[in-house]
Amino acid sequence: MKIAILKEMAAGETRCAAIPETVKKFALLGAEVAVERGAGESASIPDAEFEAAGATLGSREEVLGGSDAILCINGPEPAALSGAKDGALLVGALDPLRRREALEDYAAKGLDAFAMEWMPRITRAQSMDILSSQSNLAGYKSVVDGASRYGRAFPMMMTAAGTISPAKVFVMGVGVAGLQAIATAKRLGAQVSATDVRSATKEQIQSLGAKPIFVENVAGIEGEGAGGYATETSAEYQKAQAELVSSHISKQDIVITTALIPGKPAPRLISDAQIATMRPGSVIIDMAADAGGNVEGTVPGEEVVKHEVTIIGASNLARSLPADSSALFARNLYNFLSAFWDKDQGRPVFPEDDEIVTAIRLTHGGKVSNERLKAA
Ligand code: NAD
Repeated sequence: MKIAILKEMAAGETRCAAIPETVKKFALLGAEVAVERGAGESASIPDAEFEAAGATLGSREEVLGGSDAILCINGPEPAALSGAKDGALLVGALDPLRRREALEDYAAKGLDAFAMEWMPRITRAQSMDILSSQSNLAGYKSVVDGASRYGRAFPMMMTAAGTISPAKVFVMGVGVAGLQAIATAKRLGAQVSATDVRSATKEQIQSLGAKPIFVENVAGIEGEGAGGYATETSAEYQKAQAELVSSHISKQDIVITTALIPGKPAPRLISDAQIATMRPGSVIIDMAADAGGNVEGTVPGEEVVKHEVTIIGASNLARSLPADSSALFARNLYNFLSAFWDKDQGRPVFPEDDEIVTAIRLTHGGKVSNERLKAA
């Protein structure tokens, strides 16, 4: 089996779908990995390291030629994939709902496409979960970016010239990214509080040594929420949440928002009027910027200043830690393929009735085969 790793083509992408470690592991399974020259450059992986791990380096054409699988971070334009074998696997973050036309073209090209971001949240699939691996790093980076924009220190410091009080950090949305943001802000010495709509997160916030700020008299979402995800809350809850935020936010220095609802625009959590109550020099990092933003006035990928508060529209923060995010993403891909590896055939074999396969396989046998896509 020949696995192709291309240099990512999406604007601003820095990650690579393989690292030398996964190249070696695929070789142990009997596969050959071909890497496009320069594919790892932006993730600090020189071609020589891929070569030393046993990969064959070449041009895009050489790498694609006769390949049985293409591993990627973002789904490439279908026209850029000529040369792969009929029935070749295409595995990566294929953004299925927004790239319907590309999926039709993948199917027409005979590609067997798998969208890693649709991995079900089951124990068996945890090591294949790109959303968790990338959100975790993004949560860390949001705090580091916020700290670098903030004109004051995070920890309390007692100096001969007087005492510096600790920064107050408020995390809104305590999923994978939010939990890591809390942990990182705590390590930097900030006073941390956090909120979510899912009641199970209260204990998680406390276990990290942060203070939970929760709507008490209106019911939010019981426990973990279905599949760990939030749904939209009632108008009554939203009103109570807005009041709670209003009273809390004016005392905060750094606010990190991560709230997402699958299939819906990001919930609006902070209004312009609430921003106006914050101290000049405060910083808001809106990690939901690409999904419409949790904060009024957010611009994805940009920094805007409103009422002397900096609002960072954080966009795909995992890209700003390319060496680590590539390593985790590449291992997620390896863990997925190796879990289905058939030793005799020397390639992965995907049972049609497997929960993971039905969830993430998009195209098969020349057609768009995924039920969720057909229903969308
Ligand atoms: P997410 O990115 O979909 O959302 C981020 C957070 O925003 C969630 O905690 C959500 O409850 C919260 N949120 C939504 N609306 C909100 C609102 N109006 N106000 C405040 N907060 C709001 O979530 P995620 O990071 O992908 O993960 C959510 C959960 O799933 C976590 O508990 C995580 O541990 C779990 N998870 C489990 C697995 C697995 O078992 N394989 C894998 C990944 C994640």
